Amino acid sequence: MALWKQALAKLRGAADEAKPSGVEAESGGDGELDVLDEIPAAEGEDTAPEPKAVDKQVLARELQSGIEVSLGDLEFLGAGWRYRGHPVMVFGADVRELEASQQRDFFSQIHLYPCSGVLQNETVGAWVGTDLEQINAGHGQGPFRLCRACLEAAAGRGADAARFDFASHVRSHGDSYFADAPCYWQPGANSEPLQAPASRAEGDCPHCGCRAEEGGWQLASEDAQRLELPVGSCLLCAERRVKGCLHLTGEELLGAARVRYQYLVSQAAKVPAPSWRLAEAILPLGWQPLLQSLQRVLPPPELFYVYAESAQPAVLAWPSLRRGIVESVGGTEETIAEEWSLWTRGQIEAELGFKLR
Ligand SMILES: [Zn+2]
Ligand SMILES: [Zn+2]
Repeated sequence: MALWKQALAKLRGAADEAKPSGVEAESGGDGELDVLDEIPAAEGEDTAPEPKAVDKQVLARELQSGIEVSLGDLEFLGAGWRYRGHPVMVFGADVRELEASQQRDFFSQIHLYPCSGVLQNETVGAWVGTDLEQINAGHGQGPFRLCRACLEAAAGRGADAARFDFASHVRSHGDSYFADAPCYWQPGANSEPLQAPASRAEGDCPHCGCRAEEGGWQLASEDAQRLELPVGSCLLCAERRVKGCLHLTGEELLGAARVRYQYLVSQAAKVPAPSWRLAEAILPLGWQPLLQSLQRVLPPPELFYVYAESAQPAVLAWPSLRRGIVESVGGTEETIAEEWSLWTRGQIEAELGFKLR
């Protein structure tokens, strides 16, 4: 596709000058790059719901600005809490065992997990909510701000609070919040189940132009229609275009990312130079916090790098350092890659200060 070629040419040229962070701010003026940019467009707004559905969404809507509960009412999963099936943040905790000044401080913090022992006390009263902006708009006692310990546990040491978004956190930790059930979720609405990706290719992706022949990288057409996306939308473009989060399994998303990247490379004259910007554009959104953390300590990686013939490619790799990151390590890969140091995603995240999974 011409678009891909242009995008690649631009990316090759832009790789060296790409800034290490502030990705969103750097895309102005590069029309062709749009195909690879994160575009969290506000498509997929609710269509007029059936009257019956409105009733079912009451709790979800109230949770946006928050409701009062006891911590014992919550279910804790590895990455955060859920209240009656809804992923939630905790704020306004009324911890009487603390001194008055600490009480006030604690009250104004928003937490993602029980970062402190007092948040494990089931009798503590607190509020739960799903939307940072609405929490602050709906409560006079604020401002409520994200607890630093929770932010770093979710997004790594040195994470930027301004880049935090609860729906993105839920998406990055979808396996924990939603187990193995693919779904679409956004603050203010109940989660809706999603089907498995289309098993056969359904034409090209109208957003990025990917036209890979194998299946498994596009939304099922019914899901595309329900999310008000064009049929054929690839999983990567889809998750960047819906408001809220698409939770698909990590393997499905990574598989789709690999297929799309390989298609992109096959259409280009040569393999694009490594750049963090390219990595952010190619990998699933759930990988973004890790990418942002890694770019503070490592040079740009190769993507889907084949380090051994019989092993799955490394998602990220630094061939000169003989280091790579894989989703998980199987027994055979360890021996094949004797000269390579492979981290699993979980291992590297732990090294960078991520605690939630
Ligand atoms: Zn906290
Ligand atoms: Zn696409």
